[in-house]
Amino acid sequence: MKAHLLTIGDELLIGQTTNTNATWLGEALSRIGVHVERSVTVGDDADAITRELDRSYEEAQLVITTGGLGPTHDDVTKSIVSEYFDAPLETDDELLERVRQYYERRGREMPPEVADLATVPRGFEKLENKVGTAVGLWYAESGDDGERLLAVLPGVPDEMRSIYDNGVEPRLSERADLQDLVHKTLLTTGVPESSLQQKIGDLSDWLDGELKLAYLPSTSGVRLRLTAMGRDRDVAERRIEALEEELRDRIGKYIFGTGKDTLEGVVGDLLREHEWTVATAESATGGLIGHRLTSIAGSSDYFVGGVISYANEVKINTLGVSASTLKAHGAVSQPVAEEMAAGAATKLGATIGISTSGIAGPGGGTEEKPVGTLCVGFARREDGKVVDLDSVRLQLTNDRVLNKELFATSAL
Ligand code: ATP
Ligand code: MG
Repeated sequence: MKAHLLTIGDELLIGQTTNTNATWLGEALSRIGVHVERSVTVGDDADAITRELDRSYEEAQLVITTGGLGPTHDDVTKSIVSEYFDAPLETDDELLERVRQYYERRGREMPPEVADLATVPRGFEKLENKVGTAVGLWYAESGDDGERLLAVLPGVPDEMRSIYDNGVEPRLSERADLQDLVHKTLLTTGVPESSLQQKIGDLSDWLDGELKLAYLPSTSGVRLRLTAMGRDRDVAERRIEALEEELRDRIGKYIFGTGKDTLEGVVGDLLREHEWTVATAESATGGLIGHRLTSIAGSSDYFVGGVISYANEVKINTLGVSASTLKAHGAVSQPVAEEMAAGAATKLGATIGISTSGIAGPGGGTEEKPVGTLCVGFARREDGKVVDLDSVRLQLTNDRVLNKELFATSAL
């Protein structure tokens, strides 16, 4: 089944609101095998909406619109749909009662224009809105070339999602030609998208129209989304499993989890498994590693604390970094990062110490240490003594905020 999305609202065009409805619907529809072929955004403009509706209704079997269903003057979608399908708006008593009660419960007088919320174009089905007042609309029309479907949904994301889940998807699932779609996401880190692709190598023997691999980069690493579709769910699942096995063979060392796993969660699990604790000495990341580690419920099992050692005096006085190491190598250096990590583990009494020292930018870079330079230190203690000391130097981006995220990810 081919679908077009029509997201409506001036706020989307001027960049005031991020069009999360299009993203969310794109994902929800793909998951059940509906092919989203086109997604268009227009303002609250009757002519533009009519033009796009006309084109989409012609070209796609399913059209979903969002936005412009409210009671205010700029909300025109329902009247346009009513005109387009020559389906006069009729007041629905049950809806009117719901709207009345909605205002009554809030102790407010119902404004007269709100009665528009209770109208439905003739021949359209209502899609119940469990979270708000605007009603969703559904229209199914049989023609020579099969069925045409239209869903008209409100713009408020919560309401739109709820109506889609409860009203639209069940109606789509009734249609026989839907395919089963199986997804699996493998989470990688420590390798940029282009090198990952290179390391994975040629997959042309594996991939086809029904088995796909997508690269989705984020500040935690590149997610690999494996998608299989087909009429038979078991076959699709087996194809995903086989592809996963192949990918693990090729790039297994970069894969740290699947699905909704997080890097900090996986690190926490490993620490707990080893019965290790961790302490941080953060310069360039300003506490971000501590923040991420403690975002995981139960992290007090392994996270003991951290020092945000931004100034050299703090590195020296609190962590015990030696002034001569600082002088010889500079704060952003592997020897300093190692002493910071050892200091954090020792002073805070943890098994593991991790540290960051880097140049987030935009200023502060030199030829030898350009913006984006990061040194990560690692120390491990046994019986009160540091037995393992290590560090790496990495080169990341030019953007300060992005660098902080990437620095924290690299350290984790
Ligand atoms: P309401 O009953 O609130 O008037 P509506 O259907 O008329 O609902 P809009 O007025 O178009 O919806 O949008 C309401 C709010 O929903 C907007 O202020 C905007 O923040 C959000 N919104 C609208 N469209 C989108 C979209 N495509 N993605 C994300 N948010 C959206
Ligand atoms: Mg609007």
